[in-house]
Amino acid sequence: METRTNKNKVAIISLIIVLTALSYRIFFHGASVDSNVHKGTEFIMDTICNITVIADSKVQAEMAIEDSFKELRRLEGLLSKYKPDSEVSRLNEVKLSLDTYILLKTALEISKLTNGAFDPTVEPVVSLWDFEKKLMPAKEDIEEKLRLVGFTNIELEDMSAKFLQPGMSIDLGGIAKGYATDRVIEILKAHGVKAGLSAVAGDIRVFGNNNNRPWRVGIKAPRGEGIVGVLNLTNMAVSTSGDYERFFIKDGVRYHHLINPATGYPVNDFQSVTIVSKKGVVSDSFATAVFVMGKEKGLKFIIEHGLQAFVVFKDGSTFITDNLLDYFESKNNN
Ligand code: AMP
Ligand code: MG
Repeated sequence: METRTNKNKVAIISLIIVLTALSYRIFFHGASVDSNVHKGTEFIMDTICNITVIADSKVQAEMAIEDSFKELRRLEGLLSKYKPDSEVSRLNEVKLSLDTYILLKTALEISKLTNGAFDPTVEPVVSLWDFEKKLMPAKEDIEEKLRLVGFTNIELEDMSAKFLQPGMSIDLGGIAKGYATDRVIEILKAHGVKAGLSAVAGDIRVFGNNNNRPWRVGIKAPRGEGIVGVLNLTNMAVSTSGDYERFFIKDGVRYHHLINPATGYPVNDFQSVTIVSKKGVVSDSFATAVFVMGKEKGLKFIIEHGLQAFVVFKDGSTFITDNLLDYFESKNNN
């Protein structure tokens, strides 16, 4: 009897060990239990930045991650509109660094391509909206600030930018995180690590494979706690723009941070727009732009440009382009 109880105990303990090991592997998608996976997390650019590196050498991985965070802090110093001494805050007064110049030039090209749906000069209107204090700006204030908005009113020349109207300002918040993920991937590659993932909030880029498997990137459920789907990606960038990032609800209407530069108000056709592309700078700016275009123009733009996209409409229904289907697993958890 005694031995039988002991045997049972051993069996139960073994079962617990096996189950714990299994759940660990399931929870971490199998990857983190591999000893060549190295991770780092820091709060930079006003958000959580995650870097994952596949490398046999711990020292090599740690140096690559450290340099990546250093780069993210450097970019934040240049591109943040919240830092009064950043180049973006003093755009009209200073010679620009190559990063700021190239990113601004790219942002203006995207503005042209999206017919002004994406427009970094929307800053004076964006900053009227206070999502912390949940304050609706006055209609007259929006109208007044709208006069300062217009991407054609910036001239780029000789590594500097000139505003053609006094009072203009720039917001690269819709493109800078994607650019930052691109820079991180360049740094990881330069360090010679095998593969890596760089995530600056909802802007993610991967290179190589996650130990012979694609990288698994979840798409957040805009209204739920979980995810609506998983993208299996290799050497790609993915960005999601959503109405759940910065918002408040007043009289049943959701007011959020994706602002139509033509009206000064948020657009409510989508809950989220996810774009996959080779580069973060493209996926980031296009996700913001398509969101702001709204359903009709946004879908037309996606089709015309052959974009890989997954969108959640305002009623919770979804649409995915054919060219993304092979990489997408639905989780039906919206
Ligand atoms: P994202 O999360 O990449 O979609 O970027 C959202 C941020 O982009 C906002 O918080 C604003 O700072 C900025 N933004 C809002 N509306 C626009 C717009 N129409 N064009 C460019 N940037 C915008
Ligand atoms: Mg964006």
